[in-house]
Amino acid sequence: MAILKRAWKHKLLSPNIKTFVWRIIRRAIATGARAGNLSRRINKNCDRCNTIENDAHLLFHCHFARAVWFSSRTPLRTSLLPFEQDGIQDILAAIINTNITDSYFHRIMITLWYLWKARNDLCFQKKKWTILQVHHAIEANIKASEVEGKPATYTKNVVNRTQDYLHSRPNLLALLALYLV
Ligand SMILES: [Zn+2]
Repeated sequence: MAILKRAWKHKLLSPNIKTFVWRIIRRAIATGARAGNLSRRINKNCDRCNTIENDAHLLFHCHFARAVWFSSRTPLRTSLLPFEQDGIQDILAAIINTNITDSYFHRIMITLWYLWKARNDLCFQKKKWTILQVHHAIEANIKASEVEGKPATYTKNVVNRTQDYLHSRPNLLALLALYLV
């Protein structure tokens, strides 16, 4: 609950990310495992690796999430984190304590958000984010919110900064599409 309180009070987190954190804590995000229990038509497995997609898998233990955390500015070795079956309370308790700075807390929440967004884009739009694109989106979001002193939304800033990192034209269109949906 301390994590939720901290997220709620954070000045640079946007309302949609705060709601997302609330849903994580309430074990309410629609992972394959959770949604698949409600409908047999929903695939319970991860679109990337075909393992059961629970919160811990999606946000920390899938090879994609693992690579994102490991290559982040504050690297995290997720293989050392608990393999929870329902929710990620123990994992969050292991990586977040009262000593971590607001900016590191911010980075963790934004990273969770973009892992979720990348998952949804793959699941529903068949759009594949690369690890680099996740990092660019995280950095662009953090930078934009720090510069403006308020939460970044999908503003021009975020899109423009992301464009800077693109290597080719087709990618540019694909990535812009990701931001505009
Ligand atoms: Zn996976």
